[in-house]
Amino acid sequence: MTLPGSAQRIASSPRTLTRKVWRSIARDLRTRRGNLVRGCQWALLVAIASCTPPLDEPPNVLLISIDSLRADRLSCYGYSKTTSPQLDRLAREGVLFETAIADSSWTLPTHVTLFTGAASQVHGVDWEDRRLGDQWTTLAEALSAEGYATAGYWSGPFLHPAFGVGQGFDRYAGTSGGQEAPESESPDGRSETTSFEHHDTVTSPEITRQALDYLANAKAPFFLFLHYFDVHYDYIPPEPIWRKFDANYEGDFVAEGFIFNEDIHAKMPRRERRHLDALYDGEIYYTDQFVGQVLEGLREHGLEENTLVVLTADHGEEFFEHGGKGHRLTLYDEVLEVPLMFRMPGRVVTGKQITTQVRHLDVMPTILDFVGAPTPDTVQGRSLRPVLEGEAALAPLPAPSFLKHGKMGTLTSLRTETWKLFYWDRAESEPLVFLHDLASDPREKRPLGADTPHSAIATQHLQAWQSEVDRRQQGFDATPLDEIPEDVLEELRELGYLDD
Ligand SMILES: [Zn+2]
Repeated sequence: MTLPGSAQRIASSPRTLTRKVWRSIARDLRTRRGNLVRGCQWALLVAIASCTPPLDEPPNVLLISIDSLRADRLSCYGYSKTTSPQLDRLAREGVLFETAIADSSWTLPTHVTLFTGAASQVHGVDWEDRRLGDQWTTLAEALSAEGYATAGYWSGPFLHPAFGVGQGFDRYAGTSGGQEAPESESPDGRSETTSFEHHDTVTSPEITRQALDYLANAKAPFFLFLHYFDVHYDYIPPEPIWRKFDANYEGDFVAEGFIFNEDIHAKMPRRERRHLDALYDGEIYYTDQFVGQVLEGLREHGLEENTLVVLTADHGEEFFEHGGKGHRLTLYDEVLEVPLMFRMPGRVVTGKQITTQVRHLDVMPTILDFVGAPTPDTVQGRSLRPVLEGEAALAPLPAPSFLKHGKMGTLTSLRTETWKLFYWDRAESEPLVFLHDLASDPREKRPLGADTPHSAIATQHLQAWQSEVDRRQQGFDATPLDEIPEDVLEELRELGYLDD
């Protein structure tokens, strides 16, 4: 299987960094096992989660992930259009992290990271023939061990339990095409689920209905996970929302078949491009309404006061910023910057926007710390609980991200608040390293050479990170997926993820 468009996308990455010193650094990183500083360096860069006070009544947890949702397209993140009134309210009532970095730029590895607190390079679920191994303790399993009832309602092919992401859920049910799928009731959440259709219908109403049913009968404490898929391409928001952000459009452009649609490209007419943006915005507005209904359901059932709400996205979406469309092509900020917000009245401070960069890696340890549950040793992130409770400022930490690219090799990025380093381990030629100064080049358009102020420290950080990965990978090889269910394969193919 290969990814359509990946070759030309990666090939457009800067080729100017061929200075001898960069090549030397790149080779060292590739052959790092013999001569790198070993794992404790990264550990020194990572703060240890702080102690948790005892709780009388453990809070419920509602974790919502929205597919393909860029942070900068939400009004609470400064977007000019009011795309997200419900999420804006959630942010006002809790804490919003201005810069939250995804573990990768596609659904499967990022959700495994949300569920394990480990990076893609360590959990190894970085391709569609991989599944999360049973040896991992997932967020649902960790909460289940504390006596939580657990349920997950999901849409989109990569949340299928065949990929191992249903571990720990008492109930784990998928939805496609607006039709309810058979439910899994098995303890490991691996039962049969559903058949899928092309993404030309909506799933948010059904996910919301299931969530509201669950809340109506929920036994505390519970962990409820919801994955909304309608923001993912194709962008076909239902009537009348498709006009909401471009009411005057009179053309005949539609965003159907997004990946394969030859009318959607970097040089498409400006007017149609604007309409494409409006359709994406419409999908966000549409999904926002359903998230609002779930939050209202919490209130109606008297659960608002004792439920930690966590909202994020699995990755962003690119609209030709670096030539391509969709996601799973690059690790630039348009696919890595996701929303992240937390709310629990009385415990999480209100209306606070945190500027310190945080990561997908931090979500699971934050939730476990917040409810007073132990954090498994396999977690690489850190708890954000102290800052949620207004206790302390956060020290910034580097955010690693990873993308396997089939025949094109692998891409690793390491982002701080001031610079971002890319390491492209090309399969059939010398690896490349390039660096962006985010202060002077926030759009990542001008890669820098090796004689820049950040290069030495960036390289040290990357070496330390790779050592940490090597150390943690031992004993955690990804588990091959014996057979992807045919209905899942079919949906992946229609979404453009397979090219076989
Ligand atoms: Zn996704």
